[in-house]
Amino acid sequence: MKRIAIFVLIILVLSLAFGCADTDAGDPATSTPPESTASVETSAAPAETPDAPTPTKTPILPTSPSPVTEDTPTETPAPTDAPTPDVGDVSPDPTPPPTDAPPPTDAPPPTDTPPPTDTPPPTPPPTPPPTPNVVPGGAMLALTFDDGPSASTPHILDLLEQYGGRATFCVLGEYVANNKSVIKRAAALGSEVVGHSWDHKDLSKCSVETIQSQLTKTNDAIEAVLGVRPALYRPPYGAVNERVVTVSKDLGMSLLLWSVDTLDWKDRDATIVYNRIMNSASNGSIILCHDLHATTAAAMDKVIPALIEKGYQLVTVSELLASKGIAVTPGMKIFQG
Ligand SMILES: [Zn+2]
Repeated sequence: MKRIAIFVLIILVLSLAFGCADTDAGDPATSTPPESTASVETSAAPAETPDAPTPTKTPILPTSPSPVTEDTPTETPAPTDAPTPDVGDVSPDPTPPPTDAPPPTDAPPPTDTPPPTDTPPPTPPPTPPPTPNVVPGGAMLALTFDDGPSASTPHILDLLEQYGGRATFCVLGEYVANNKSVIKRAAALGSEVVGHSWDHKDLSKCSVETIQSQLTKTNDAIEAVLGVRPALYRPPYGAVNERVVTVSKDLGMSLLLWSVDTLDWKDRDATIVYNRIMNSASNGSIILCHDLHATTAAAMDKVIPALIEKGYQLVTVSELLASKGIAVTPGMKIFQG
């Protein structure tokens, strides 16, 4: 019993010496002071560890990054200065020239220069045929005779042969087959034979098909006799409109008009015709006559020698145009009536 009593006394003494160890555990007020025990609690209580480290880390983090960033800026400028050397890269400048080299790839423009070589085609237009029997610088005119061949045509050919002149005969297609010898003789004397439609229709009042037929049939007839297809024709009455011009152009033909009208079909007087021609003729004239009328053929007895005496060369229309440097193109109207 004594041992039990002693044991109890010891406990009492110890409890008095250290003070209520069991109760302290449950007393919150006493738990706060033991911060020294924090070392033990930090491991056990994770919630508190963030608070403790953050104050210590935050000062470190801001300080460490700031110096780093400050250091890097100072350092980075150097590397960035390395790129800036591009400006100082006067030596690397040789590389920019290559970039300028691409423009040379714009060399295609030189390929555009070849097109100019395509432009030469326009040059072909001026190609007047040669004029063998013509003195280019001399005065000349072209007598033209419509509506034949007729009984009067051979007389005119006689005069041309006698005086060494030439003329242009604008024949009706329907007369060609029955006057082959006259037509051949005219061509043999150096005169020109062209069409005047098939049967003297006013082409300006005709359909496209009729105009084509009138011109084509007449050219066929002339070509059958002479072996040459005329590129000129004289429209009856000089009647021309846009449709006539278009068809003519499509057929590759030009429209032969005139500059002097003798009105021989109206007056039927050789003297009047003679005076009209002599008063109106000039260098380069294209004179409209009709070999259909005997009075016109009679007028030529005086007209042809008189013109030659005045120094005119009596030439064909084609010779006249070539000598004057006039390039004839399809659809072109040669002189206005
Ligand atoms: Zn006529």
